[in-house]
Amino acid sequence: MGYRKEIYDKAFKLIADTKKKEEGKFAASLAELRGIDKEFYKIELALANYGSQIIGAAISGDSQKLAEIKAECDKLNAQKAEKLRASGLRQPTFYCEKCKDSGYLGGKLCDCVKDAAKKIAFEELSRSLPLESCGFENFDLNYYSDKQDSDGAIPRKRAVAVLNLCKQFVENFPNDCRSLLFIGDAGLGKTHLSLSIVKEISAKGYGVVYGSAQNLFGAAEKEHFSFSGESTALDSLLECDLLVIDDLGTEFYSSFAASLFYNIVNSRLLSGRPTVINTNLGFDELEKRYTARITSRFIGGYDMRTLIGSDIRQIKALER
Ligand SMILES: [Zn+2]
Repeated sequence: MGYRKEIYDKAFKLIADTKKKEEGKFAASLAELRGIDKEFYKIELALANYGSQIIGAAISGDSQKLAEIKAECDKLNAQKAEKLRASGLRQPTFYCEKCKDSGYLGGKLCDCVKDAAKKIAFEELSRSLPLESCGFENFDLNYYSDKQDSDGAIPRKRAVAVLNLCKQFVENFPNDCRSLLFIGDAGLGKTHLSLSIVKEISAKGYGVVYGSAQNLFGAAEKEHFSFSGESTALDSLLECDLLVIDDLGTEFYSSFAASLFYNIVNSRLLSGRPTVINTNLGFDELEKRYTARITSRFIGGYDMRTLIGSDIRQIKALER
């Protein structure tokens, strides 16, 4: 699972906060019980008193005294437990019994952290993206003409094929999953399909990074030139389970952005991490802008599809 470091930090914090809240609630109820039940309060005081006596007996090496105190404490603890049981109060348990709230099990992240990270990541994505309105089921094929265009291609047939490819991608993810490159003019549903993929993959519990080329490259560039030694933005582009780059080609061109883009495409192909890219540029334009070094990677490792048809946003606007 490849989430950003902040997501894991938040997951650990969520677990710690939940535990703290439970302990706070227990402490408040305990204080209330002391006020109501004087006997209970006395037991607690006696236990505290025995605590200091135990230390004294241990230092002096008086084992008989130590055993006597221990027996007394056992008795009092049993009484205290009985009173707690009768009051319905329960000692706060671990948030996660498996890892005893350490977050790690056998040197690996425990499921409790992974589950919390999944929830947080999904909530964050849903907040920043219109995931609700996306989905394969809302992808309306009626906006694509079923008539042959001047090149002899049928837009709807293309759209059906692309939709099926996206569904297959989601089903196979992250194994046997070639990266995707969608080419086509604006308003042909590329972003809708990508967001539908984002929605499905993040709901499956994978770490997804989605953004326009401008924003994603910009953040990594800013980080690089801040010379802070931080590489959080770059790491998340290289290491997230799924990276979706929208609107490739609209970003400000710089030699840094071009080499960053090559690094992303190449590294992710080598590490077997799928990427989905949308662009309004044709293949030749991509080659001109980013050189054949990149387009040869597309040919080798990407499924490339071109969507054709009329701008859906314009059709929808006319319908209104
Ligand atoms: Zn755990």
